[in-house]
Amino acid sequence: MSAGLTALHAELVRRNPGEAEFHQAASEVLESLAPVLTARPELAEAKIVERICEPERQIMFRVPWQDDSGTVHINRGFRVEFNSALGPYKGGLRFHPSVNLGIVKFLGFEQIFKNSLTGLNIGGGKGGSDFDPRGRSAAEVMRFCQSFMTELHRHLGEHTDVPAGDIGVGGREIGYLFGQYRRITNRWEAGVLTGKGLGWGGSTARTEATGYGNVLFTAEMLKRRGEDLDGQQVVVSGAGNVAIYTIEKAQSLGANVLTCSDSGGYVVDEKGIDVRLLRQVKEVERGRLETYAQRRGASATYVPGGRVWDVACDVALPSATQNELDADAARILVRNGVKAVSEGANMPTTPEAVAVFKEAGVAFGPGKAANAGGVATSALEMRQNSARESWSFERTENELAVIMRGIHETCYETAERYGRPGDYVAGANIAGFERVADAMVAQGLI
Ligand code: GLU
Repeated sequence: MSAGLTALHAELVRRNPGEAEFHQAASEVLESLAPVLTARPELAEAKIVERICEPERQIMFRVPWQDDSGTVHINRGFRVEFNSALGPYKGGLRFHPSVNLGIVKFLGFEQIFKNSLTGLNIGGGKGGSDFDPRGRSAAEVMRFCQSFMTELHRHLGEHTDVPAGDIGVGGREIGYLFGQYRRITNRWEAGVLTGKGLGWGGSTARTEATGYGNVLFTAEMLKRRGEDLDGQQVVVSGAGNVAIYTIEKAQSLGANVLTCSDSGGYVVDEKGIDVRLLRQVKEVERGRLETYAQRRGASATYVPGGRVWDVACDVALPSATQNELDADAARILVRNGVKAVSEGANMPTTPEAVAVFKEAGVAFGPGKAANAGGVATSALEMRQNSARESWSFERTENELAVIMRGIHETCYETAERYGRPGDYVAGANIAGFERVADAMVAQGLI
């Protein structure tokens, strides 16, 4: 990092105490920006980096709700509206006990550059709550969502801020949130949330998009090296929406997907993960992976408490959560001959692990590029909502593929242009930044 950017980051740490994940996400982006600021002094003069690191607006609010036994609970709600230079704030809501302001800010910060890379007109934002949906009944989740939206609704709008899902927020929660928004505002405003059900304004392929998109991005990286996914041994972490559709798509391209994981442990399935069974256990029954292994039979082993990175593979697709893949795990993967690693989750790889992959010449797809398919398809959902249209699965999937190829090209070419060939981290950060920076300069000092 240049001296100026190092000082800027130190100031960011000082002014945002205790927000470790935000510090990390900011440092990862700032590390790539020195050559851009040297080449384009007008961006430094306009203090674009300082402005980008400061959210336009941060909202924190109380979310009171009652459980099924009548006990009162108080959670904290967040929405960080980070940057709207390119379009309405866009980004998911995460419901997980680990959620705090620092986590929401790291996610919102990543979202600015990710959304920019899609080439579509969406700004960056993120939100959520420290509510833990695990073990809660559907009625409790509904009451929580209604209380959450009762406050959040005043900050939203199809031209203002458009949330979607993230960890702990799927189709069920988006339904409850949309219902409450509609009731309070008396508006059937389809474009205010994405990830809706297919019968009421949702888009085909939105559910699949993040996982499918990451596999398409991985395939593009491999293609540059004269390879494809056919016959590759793939390790996936996670067992939520991103992991499930990553596994499905990788298998459809001929890969053998050996693993998936949840917070209790992981499964190795020598015959390849059975996606139908996985969906039944995780999505329908909302159960644990141990059940998958019990029902699958001899090919599957459940390893409690372990990490999928110990399993030898050609390709690793971390699809669970931030900082799940550290330098030790990276060294094991490299020793076992991994060729490509691509992030389905947001910031799952620690900076030290990224350095290990870079050193070893492993193709590394950073999340802000590789997992942008989800939010890109959200923007396609917004497009359909504006036009009052519903596209076929094939049409949306084709558009997604075009967007993912475009993101790969943009990252690859930008990295080359700035003298960092093959460095997708630099390419994604610089290209994502430049588009937002140009819009901010054009729109004046706001
Ligand atoms: N939460 C997803 C992400 O990390 C999707 C956001 C959206 O669709 O708005 O990009």
